[in-house]
Amino acid sequence: MATTYSALGDFINGEFVKTKKEDFAWGNKSPADLTEVVFNGACDFSHVDRAVESARNAYPAWAALTTEARKTYLLKLKEAYKANKSNLAEVISRETGKPLWESTGEAQAMISKIDITLNESLKLVTEQRVEQALPGVDGVIHYKPRGVFSVIGPFNFPGHLANGHIVPALITGNTVVFKPSEKTPVTGQLMAKLFKQAGFPPGVFNLVQGLGETGKRLVTHEQVDGVLFTGSYDVGLKIKQDTINQYWKLLALEMGGKNTAIVWEDADLEKAIYENILGGFISTGQRCSCTSKIVLHRSVKDKFIEGFHKAAKKLKIGHWSKNPFMGPLISADSVENYLNFQKIAGREGAECIMRGKALETSKKGHYVSPSIYMVPGNDPSSVYQSREIFGPNVSIYTVDEFEEALEITNASGFGLVASVFTKNKALYERAVLGARVGLLNWNRTTNGASSRLPFGGMGKSGNDRPSAHFAVQYCTVPVSSLEDQTVFDKTKMLPGME
Ligand code: NAP
Repeated sequence: MATTYSALGDFINGEFVKTKKEDFAWGNKSPADLTEVVFNGACDFSHVDRAVESARNAYPAWAALTTEARKTYLLKLKEAYKANKSNLAEVISRETGKPLWESTGEAQAMISKIDITLNESLKLVTEQRVEQALPGVDGVIHYKPRGVFSVIGPFNFPGHLANGHIVPALITGNTVVFKPSEKTPVTGQLMAKLFKQAGFPPGVFNLVQGLGETGKRLVTHEQVDGVLFTGSYDVGLKIKQDTINQYWKLLALEMGGKNTAIVWEDADLEKAIYENILGGFISTGQRCSCTSKIVLHRSVKDKFIEGFHKAAKKLKIGHWSKNPFMGPLISADSVENYLNFQKIAGREGAECIMRGKALETSKKGHYVSPSIYMVPGNDPSSVYQSREIFGPNVSIYTVDEFEEALEITNASGFGLVASVFTKNKALYERAVLGARVGLLNWNRTTNGASSRLPFGGMGKSGNDRPSAHFAVQYCTVPVSSLEDQTVFDKTKMLPGME
């Protein structure tokens, strides 16, 4: 059944505020069914100032609360998320086209994030006492909030990834203005409703809807102390450039990937095929952690390719409500981009093993089939081999030496995830050191990160502010204190003083 969610406006100072002036109006159809209009709304750029002002005003009182007091609000939010888990999942599926099993997992991750942050991650920023930090003087490390954060979210995990910044920011005493992707405004709106339901003090959490320009105004706002961004390298770079003069601003940039899986001669091939099908094609290739390049030891090439190709052909693709493996791409532009990259691959000499096509399905949407290309060799100047495609495309390389596999892993400039399939622990350990990535998995897909571990990339994938378990660290400033409660002792005066 088609569902259009009414646009409630922006969430500012605890209330939804309708846009009176339309700086930009837009409508979204579900990528899974283009007859379904999911959202019709507008944005008003002046709401950015109002939302930041509201977050700024709410900050002192929120920061002054004890962590225990802030926890009670986050636990209420968890209850609101739990009670609305299926609602969240359905909205995410309608907006992104993700299969319901996957968006249900995303909604669960939002719930779990609260528990993990409160019970585990907070320990990383709990006040520490250091006895005798200087002779006779004890030291303390306090962690204080930074102020007002803007959170900029991507479309592909519209709930979980924004939540992954928002929860750590709030529990550590910061206030937040969140701008969701213009492709997924309803998920953001539902989150705001649940914040309201959880009874947060007005202004602690705010939401502004809009497009890239809204995001730009928000991240460059003078009263914003930090930017917690998840999205592409191109936009992350723009944010860095746009804020270069605001040197005080904290930037946590979680960006794209061009991730490599190495399948070595001794690998469990059945497992490697399964894990790499997940790696390449889950979420229709629209995860920063998806596998783009598979590097095969020459001895397993034929067997792996045969099994991988066969499995890829059998994947079920369709409407989210039918629980297929893959839903559609997010937009017509993404389909065009996906098809174009295959043309580029062909022009650059890659051999097509499986061509990805735009699909005609019973529901008209942005559906495509997976694609697999064999590249002639590592070429860092190749557009196909170095750009993030963000679609279900995998390129295959063959090598004889592990060193070559590492060179391919490091060739694109992105450095998010890599995985190694081998029984040989020494090779895995070589990759931990030699692969320029923030996540390195052993006998597992590049996808499927744990909120109990840090998540962040090197090179074009991030700016060394890992998120997930470590997010509480970039949300806080460590303040060192030397605490001296002794009375003045003349005998200890330095030479040359009276
Ligand atoms: P995107 O195009 O970079 O957009 C991300 C967000 O930035 C959106 O809310 C976007 O608004 C906003 N934005 C655009 N221009 C801006 C500007 N000048 N200033 C501030 N904000 C601006 O990314 P996407 O297409 O939504 O998501 C896919 C990308 O995210 C992929 O590259 C993927 O690898 C990456 N990603 C990374 C991670 C990670 O943890 N490393 C996780 C998930 C996804 P509009 O959408 O309204 O334009």
